[in-house]
Amino acid sequence: MTLADDRVEIVEVGPRDGFQPIVPFITTDDKMAFVEGLLDAGVGRIEIGSFVSAKAIPQLCDTRDVLGAFQSDARADFQVLVPNMRGARDALLSQAQHLVFVMSASPNHNRANVGKEPAESAGEFSSLAADLPPATRLRLNVATVFDCPFSGRMPASATLELLKRVEPHLDGLEVCLCDTTGGANPAQVEHVFGLCRQTFSNVSWAFHAHDTYGMGAANVYSAYRLGLRIFDASIGGLGGCPFAPGATGNVATEDLVWMFQAMGVPTGIDIGKIVALAERAAALEGASAGGRVREALSARQRRRASSAQQNDVA
Ligand code: ZN
Repeated sequence: MTLADDRVEIVEVGPRDGFQPIVPFITTDDKMAFVEGLLDAGVGRIEIGSFVSAKAIPQLCDTRDVLGAFQSDARADFQVLVPNMRGARDALLSQAQHLVFVMSASPNHNRANVGKEPAESAGEFSSLAADLPPATRLRLNVATVFDCPFSGRMPASATLELLKRVEPHLDGLEVCLCDTTGGANPAQVEHVFGLCRQTFSNVSWAFHAHDTYGMGAANVYSAYRLGLRIFDASIGGLGGCPFAPGATGNVATEDLVWMFQAMGVPTGIDIGKIVALAERAAALEGASAGGRVREALSARQRRRASSAQQNDVA
């Protein structure tokens, strides 16, 4: 295996994780235009929304409509987040074909986020997995694997125990370990994924990094070196955790595309198009954007444009 022929899949979570904390409401048309832009840039999997109560997250109250507009579009795989059985039922009623069930390794975070004990969430996940319509795909997101806004640094044992509860359903499943607060470091990422991979062998692992402390790309690289190939990211580094003050959002899609491209690892995503779209995302009213590559490449482009102009004048 060489790095050069080893493709990674970047899962764009901007329309869900990125848009979720933004006030004011982004119109359904604008959301659709972003999804269209992502498709045009070559993004192959998009977390397009979430089936949660509209009272809890008003920004995503139109997930049904956005999903409806794209779910038969063959250019990408569209997944939706569901925090419980009710969300899963609503998603299935809306013909969602790829569900992402979320629960937290930290009991405190699970109570705050979905109002349940982790064991209850694990039970719901198990019923969902056992009863899933045949053509529907399922992914499990485990939040606060590395660090919790309430409990601090998390031991790997919390994640291992939670996964043990759903072990009968893990065979062949995609499980995404999430650094919800951005508090992880590359050594911890290596340690936790190493243990999880040893314990549960037939799982397709994914990693969801946040960039609060500037560790997002380093953490992704650490997971990549370990053999992971599926990474969540958000355009413009949008996002944040409502319970983690100062959390600056997900690792930026364009930062990962840039990093992997520089390493000779194909992502299928056009860096120029994704940076242009990230600029639009960062300019959304109420957005707090992150990442570095957007600024760097946009500045370079401005410099080129102005020197071209000077040459014209000369
Ligand atoms: Zn996130």
